[in-house]
Amino acid sequence: MAALAAAERRAAAREALATRSFDLLVIGGGVIGAATAAHAARTGLAVALVDAGDFGSGTSSASSKLVHGGLRYLRLGDVRLVREAHHERRTLATDVAPHLVHRLPFLLPLYRDGPFRPAFVQSGILLYSTLARSRLNWLVRPDKAGELVPSLRLDGLRSCALYADAWTNDARLCLENVLAAAEAGATVLNRAEVVALRLVNGNVQGAEVELDGETVGVRARVVVNAAGPWVDAIRRLESPRAGTSVRLSKGAHVLVPGGEDWGAALTVPQDDVRVTFAVPWYGLLLLGTTDTDFEGDPATVSVEPADVAVILEEAGKALTPALLEPGAVRASFTGLRVLPLGDGGTATARRETVFSVGPGGMLSVAGGKLTTYRRIALDALERVRGPLGLGRVDRRPFALPGADGEPPFAIEIDPEVEAHLRHLYGSRAGHMIEYAAEDPSLLERLHPDGPDIAAQAVFAVRHEWATTVEDVLRRRTTVALRGLADERAVTRVEGLLAGA
Ligand SMILES: Cc1cc2nc3c(=O)[nH]c(=O)nc-3n(C[C@H](O)[C@H](O)[C@H](O)COP(=O)(O)OP(=O)(O)OC[C@H]3O[C@@H](n4cnc5c(N)ncnc54)[C@H](O)[C@@H]3O)c2cc1C
Repeated sequence: MAALAAAERRAAAREALATRSFDLLVIGGGVIGAATAAHAARTGLAVALVDAGDFGSGTSSASSKLVHGGLRYLRLGDVRLVREAHHERRTLATDVAPHLVHRLPFLLPLYRDGPFRPAFVQSGILLYSTLARSRLNWLVRPDKAGELVPSLRLDGLRSCALYADAWTNDARLCLENVLAAAEAGATVLNRAEVVALRLVNGNVQGAEVELDGETVGVRARVVVNAAGPWVDAIRRLESPRAGTSVRLSKGAHVLVPGGEDWGAALTVPQDDVRVTFAVPWYGLLLLGTTDTDFEGDPATVSVEPADVAVILEEAGKALTPALLEPGAVRASFTGLRVLPLGDGGTATARRETVFSVGPGGMLSVAGGKLTTYRRIALDALERVRGPLGLGRVDRRPFALPGADGEPPFAIEIDPEVEAHLRHLYGSRAGHMIEYAAEDPSLLERLHPDGPDIAAQAVFAVRHEWATTVEDVLRRRTTVALRGLADERAVTRVEGLLAGA
């Protein structure tokens, strides 16, 4: 279990960034940048990956946490996108991250006054399920639907459609890609912000990176900008005249109690294209999302009371009101979708990935879906194959670090905690629990009402680049999103961070 102390590891990464000459520098450690770095490093290239904040702290921890074909894209006629997404969903759930991606039935209720016509839904779900290669595509009677989703509003309910997708933990899926990059030899560092690009004879050949109060020059033959909602800010470092290549749409979510006894998630039609979701997630219900134009600084996006009101009201179209009192909200979060430029509402904008190459040769990649992150990363690599001198890009899926079987634990622990750790860490859970085998106090829960334990905080610092309490509570564990990040949990993690 020998691990470099976190400070030593950070110093080593800083040293490597300052002194090595990289083939590829990836800006942005969201899921797209992390996967691009991982695939490139696995081909033997010298790769660096930097993120201004924490890995996954942008959009990649603020999604609806669905690995899905995207029923609404079918409504927009985008069969190709749905087919690709279903293919990726299967690949992630079977080969890449089976511990993190879990199949889940979805119930789509059809009310007499609702926007969807049953004939459309029947044929739509049949096509969706065919593309999904799933046989779960039946219309379900209201009494059976009420068994699957006990809080379903039954008045005015005509019938329900049933189909299958999957849920995940987006922040951890992103982190496992960072780990995969590091395991393949990439130099990775969070809290390392690109503040300028290095231009040599007009070509982008690296960046100036601000980290720990100093600026480090990073040399790289090729630079990929995967900065998500900040994509245009980085493009303007290459050329101040770069202008705008994408538009942003804000999506907020809330978590409320409920969902423990649900056998399916709920897809709630809002108009003839837009749907919202109520997803059982760690014993709570994840509700959302909104979809509104956003034009400010991405760093300032936050959940407003009006967002919460809209989410609860829209969920109320299919859920009993008792679940949806404003006081029930345990946690909330928001993120920014990156969409191609275009007219019309953001809800009908295509969820295409936007690629562009600037005058200095930097490739920018933004948008798309968490579900198709692998494909987007591989497409990005294809586009820089020439300058990187890569013969071909190996598109075969590889198992993420936690997807390597289920070794037994060194000690016996509470089965609820064990199941949770096996989901979050997969085969790495056994390694993590060794800390608790050495110091049993690390088996204590970070909050009595949740299954996350103290050992995870130590592991997060030593093996997962966590440097702040928020990194641990919000993105390495599930404490914050369960609404359990109270003063005691915060103080406990502060102590663990100081001691790790
Ligand atoms: C509300 C919402 C719900 C969604 N739901 C789903 C869903 O259920 N399923 C699905 O498949 N997809 C979903 N998506 C889409 C999905 O979340 C995104 O496509 C994906 O997370 C984008 O990842 P990314 O790596 O491009 O961007 P990000 O995760 O935003 O990563 C960009 C990174 O760049 C870093 N960065 C910025 N500036 C700099 C700089 N100067 N230097 C260094 N680093 C920098 C940031 O810190 C950030 O970590 C949803 C999106 C939203 C907004």
